[in-house]
Amino acid sequence: MKISSWLSSVIPLISYYNPKFYAEIFLIYVTGRSKKWLLLHDDYLLNSYQIKSLKKCIDRLCIGEPVCYIVKECEFWSLSLMLNNYVFIPRPETEILVEKLLNMLPINYNGKILELGTGSGAISLAIAKERPSSNIIAIDSSINSIRLAKYNSMLLKLNNISFFLSDWYFIFDSIKFEYIISNPPYLSINDIDCNNSLKFEPYNALFSKHDGIYDIEFIINNSSKYLYNNGWLLLEHGYNQKKIVQDIFYENNFINIFTFKDYHGHDRVTLGMKY
Ligand code: GLN
Repeated sequence: MKISSWLSSVIPLISYYNPKFYAEIFLIYVTGRSKKWLLLHDDYLLNSYQIKSLKKCIDRLCIGEPVCYIVKECEFWSLSLMLNNYVFIPRPETEILVEKLLNMLPINYNGKILELGTGSGAISLAIAKERPSSNIIAIDSSINSIRLAKYNSMLLKLNNISFFLSDWYFIFDSIKFEYIISNPPYLSINDIDCNNSLKFEPYNALFSKHDGIYDIEFIINNSSKYLYNNGWLLLEHGYNQKKIVQDIFYENNFINIFTFKDYHGHDRVTLGMKY
């Protein structure tokens, strides 16, 4: 089947979405060709394997699966990252978290940063790219996430991150960091909406007990032991968690506590300094 015929057969099927956009993404994924090449060769003959793969992509899109999972790739901080269903899809608002940390780090920063719950590696990879002399340790409690994040760092040729399997601070003993950063699970079970795409993402990476605050509380309550004095803890959290997150920071004697909004105007990132 020619690309042009495939396009005309598939566009009505996905007219609910942005059909040209998705058809193009899937063609690039399945043929391994560039967008430009595909435009110039719309009489290219797709083989039966490619047609089957394209059909699978369309079927998955039609049941609401996020396109990043279908093509196993996403973009974060202008980095192209490999993705799979073991990790959640990095969100644009997490770039605020990255931005806030970068604002505190001189360009030649060579200190130690810990990322808790790295998932695809997005946050650490962005920081490693922008601060090549920094020394980053990224942990996750999922071996599949660690494998993927390591693979991403290899593809991006970033050598200043070490990845470890750990349940939060579990593997650390006497090590201290200047910065700890995390986008932990913070959604509440009440945020589950069966119609949305969250159902394709790993539950444990998104949802936390006690109305979504359990992991955030654990991370703040235990951070002192792993932060130098004047070290910073930076956390992403839910749009309605500013007060509770700030209270936990205060209870742990942090100072300089600030909350920042995301691109939608929602409170999203809180940071504080260990005193
Ligand atoms: N920001 C994500 C969402 O709202 C949740 C990410 C998380 O729990 N860390 O879907």
